[in-house]
Amino acid sequence: MLIVMRTDATPDEIDGACRAVRDLGLSPHPIPGKSRTAIGITGNVGPVDPGQLSGLPGVVEVIRVTRPFKLTNREMKPDDTHIHLGGLTIGGPDLIVIAGPCSVETRDQTLGVAREVKKRGAQILRGGAFKPRTSPYAFQGLGAEGLHILAEARAETGLPVISELMSTEDADLVEQHVDIIQIGARNMQNYALLRRAGQCRKPVMLKRGIAATLEEFLLAAEYIISQGNHDVILCERGIRGFSDFSRFTLDISIVPELKRITHLPVFVDPSHAAGRRELVIPLARAAIAAGADGIMVEVHHDPKKALSDGAQALTLPMFEQMMGELHAIAPVLRRR
Ligand code: PEP
Ligand code: MN
Repeated sequence: MLIVMRTDATPDEIDGACRAVRDLGLSPHPIPGKSRTAIGITGNVGPVDPGQLSGLPGVVEVIRVTRPFKLTNREMKPDDTHIHLGGLTIGGPDLIVIAGPCSVETRDQTLGVAREVKKRGAQILRGGAFKPRTSPYAFQGLGAEGLHILAEARAETGLPVISELMSTEDADLVEQHVDIIQIGARNMQNYALLRRAGQCRKPVMLKRGIAATLEEFLLAAEYIISQGNHDVILCERGIRGFSDFSRFTLDISIVPELKRITHLPVFVDPSHAAGRRELVIPLARAAIAAGADGIMVEVHHDPKKALSDGAQALTLPMFEQMMGELHAIAPVLRRR
């Protein structure tokens, strides 16, 4: 259910409508828009009687929201969500490129890649400090030390950094050091972790689980937003199909569908989808052409020596080539 307030509704009227929602035992979520405020309602199991709310001062109409996801739904908030980070706006006309190594391995490696991708136009640096690895014997990441290296890379280059949060117990530490908190594909349905990320005051990038439907993906985002953190970026990173040539299958068709039914920024990670660097540039082009607000790619100065995901890491010349091609595509889509 959604309450649409008049354009000239006063703060008192908005508060009054929120109070009326609470009196029904439900939760109000005020969503300020360009011209008016709407109030999303969650917590109801069945339909709410609109008559209880439609007569309140300042209320224009009460609309039933038919999908199970509410706070992520464009019916609730027609305007795109813009996330402001330093001088960047994520989800606006500017395309955003996040680049960097799969894992923070050493100080030299991370600072080196950070400088090089910045020179070639990346706006955000990625690097895993806590790594979700399939095998317990594989490199697990540098942990806190990795976060300190990322903070140093930000201080030197000015690039905001994104890194993965894998466990609720690390939330304070990760939130303190990164600019965007990543929730990985494997944790898309870790509800305790989603709730904890929702209590953080930094934007969250939520990656789609490898077997998640669109509805499950959006309900996972809903866990974060319902805790009060509205700055959520969705990231398609490939789902498991029967491909015998790529690591996962990039579900490009979810990009326009997400843009249609949600107001959240949509990113694509072609690196994990492909698993092979030869496929990454064409998939990045496809992502932008399909309407993604940005991409996240893995880049390594010497992929043969990478401690994780070397096969899918772009080399620096490949990253430069990709950026050139994205620059050429952007104006066709009226993006910068
Ligand atoms: C990553 O981005 O480093 C990562 C582990 O991705 P995913 O969760 O999509 O596998
Ligand atoms: Mn990786």
